[in-house]
Amino acid sequence: MIDPWLLERLACPRCHGALAAQSVELRCSQGHRYPVTDGIPVMLLDDVPQTHWVAAHALEHHSEPAADSVAGETAIDPVVQEAVGATGGNLYRHLLGRLPRYPIPDLPFEAPAGTPFLDVGCHWGRWCVSAARRGWRVVGIDPSLNGIRAAKRVARATGVQISLVLGDGRYLPFAPSTFQMVHSYSVLQHFSEEDARRCAREIGRVLEASGEAHIQMAQRFGALNLLQQLRRGFRRPQLFDVRYWPLGALRQAFSEAIGPTTLTVDGFFSLNAQLADLDLLRPAHRTLVKLSHALRRVSQRHPSLVQAADSVYVNSIKV
Ligand SMILES: [Zn+2]
Repeated sequence: MIDPWLLERLACPRCHGALAAQSVELRCSQGHRYPVTDGIPVMLLDDVPQTHWVAAHALEHHSEPAADSVAGETAIDPVVQEAVGATGGNLYRHLLGRLPRYPIPDLPFEAPAGTPFLDVGCHWGRWCVSAARRGWRVVGIDPSLNGIRAAKRVARATGVQISLVLGDGRYLPFAPSTFQMVHSYSVLQHFSEEDARRCAREIGRVLEASGEAHIQMAQRFGALNLLQQLRRGFRRPQLFDVRYWPLGALRQAFSEAIGPTTLTVDGFFSLNAQLADLDLLRPAHRTLVKLSHALRRVSQRHPSLVQAADSVYVNSIKV
C-alpha cells in the first residue's frame, strides 16, 4: 500500500522511531499510529497548534474518498486551477481557472540523478515535478489534503514518479540523514520565526552529512517587500502573513540549525514569479521577471546585490 522505498525512510514524527505497516496504518514501537489513505501516509500531529488550517482539515477528512481524477489528458487539474494564485503568487492571479498548462519551474540546483530530494510544503507539486524530471528521487510533503491529492494526479498526468506524504515541516516524519537535498519555496516565509527555526532544525536532522538545503525566504529590505510592509503599517505579521527577515538573522538561524549558510538572490520585484512561466504572465509582468532574472545573473558576480533582493535562497550545508 505504501511504496517500500518511502516506508524504509519514514519515521515517527513524535519519537523518530521506525514504523511498521499494519493493514491501513503505520505504527511505531511506542504505539504512535498514523493512518494511510490511498497510499499516502497521514503523518500530521493532532496535538500541536497547526501552521495552516489545511492541516486540521486534512486530519478530519483524509479518510473520505478522493474526487475522481480529471477527465481528459490535456485538462489541468481543478485544484491547481484554483490554487495557482496562492502557490504561484500575485502575478499568477489572472490565471485562476484559466491555466493552459502546468506552471512547472526550473529548479536552479544541480545534483546527480537518483539523489533523494525532499520538497517541504510541496502543495500540488510544481517543484517535485521539476526535480523528478531531472531524475531525482522525490518526496513531497504538505499538510494540505487537496494539495497532496492534486500532486498525485499531476505527477501521473506529467508522467513522473514522486512519493507524497501528508505532514508538517516542523515535525518531519523521516529518519535522520535521509535526503541529499531539501528544498522549500514560498513556505517557510509564511512561518512564525519560532516555527521557521523548528522547521530548519528538522531539515538539518533529515539531511545527510554534506547534504544541501535550499530554502526560499523573503528579505526585509527588498524594494517590493518594504512596500508590502508599509502597506500593512509595519504591524506584527499574523497567521500565514509573509515574514520579512533581515539577512543576518536568516544566516544565523540556518547556520545554527543546519550548517554553513550562504544567501543568494532568487528574485526582485516579486516573491514567486518564475522565468519558466513567462508565456503565462501578463506582458508588463514579463518585463519585471526578465529584469529580475538579469539582476540575478549580475548577482553571481556581485553577491552584495542580495541585500536588495526581495526573494532570497538560504543555502546551507549539513555538517
Ligand atoms: Zn513514535
